[in-house]
Amino acid sequence: MIFNVLSIAGSDPSGGAGIQADLKAFSARGVFGMAALTALTAQNTQGVSAVYVLPPDFVARQIRDVFADIRVDAVKIGMIANAEIADAVAGALAPQHGVPVVLDPVMIAKGGAALLDPQAVDTLKRRLLPLATLVTPNLPEAAALTGLPEAADRDGMARQARAILALGPALALVKGGHLGGPASPDILVGAEGEHWFEAPRTETKNTHGTGCSLSSAIAAELAKGASPAEAVARAKAWLAQAVARSGDLTVGSGHGPVHH
Ligand code: PLP
Repeated sequence: MIFNVLSIAGSDPSGGAGIQADLKAFSARGVFGMAALTALTAQNTQGVSAVYVLPPDFVARQIRDVFADIRVDAVKIGMIANAEIADAVAGALAPQHGVPVVLDPVMIAKGGAALLDPQAVDTLKRRLLPLATLVTPNLPEAAALTGLPEAADRDGMARQARAILALGPALALVKGGHLGGPASPDILVGAEGEHWFEAPRTETKNTHGTGCSLSSAIAAELAKGASPAEAVARAKAWLAQAVARSGDLTVGSGHGPVHH
């Protein structure tokens, strides 16, 4: 059986992040990928130059049409852009109980461009976090969600993860890549306790789209029936290999993508 996974996210025409990365990650993890767009970006490996947000009704319609016809085994949510899109996505997903939802709370691109209106953080917390099976913030995103200072060590990461859990998702995966050091630690916290993951860090500037790819791979593994801890472990191992192979690519002169 081939499982079906829907990404609800923004477009990156340079192919490294967003919907384009999600669909490649779905293929790499052996599931059938689908994509409902929230926004278009104009960007390349040097950065994002413009964002065009789609009408919220149209975003909701894409999601409803997919669910009306197709068995969806998992959903990944990426760039949400603004509060109206967050409301529209929440409204379209709310009736779909039981489908695992991985929420990557994308806020700011590595180059500094805002991919979420800062005013929309509250709506994202109120409408989308409670729908999420698993939410995957990096350290700055975790701090923005909780209002706590950005974690500087593992204890801080565990505190952030527990605070995010109180906002309603079933599980929180706080990603510690921003801590630096030879290994990048992530912590998964849920009702069943805490679990640490580690992957060796590869020194490369080709890390554009790593967050998109990881959350999509986790959604793919959940669709296939993996437990959350198994899904994270498999997705992280796969992404570490993809990052290690990213030096093979010759894509642009800035922050290049990972090789899926
Ligand atoms: N563009 C889009 C459409 C995205 O969804 C994302 C991340 O989720 C990015 C850009 C940012 O990618 P990065 O910060 O990895 O460069």
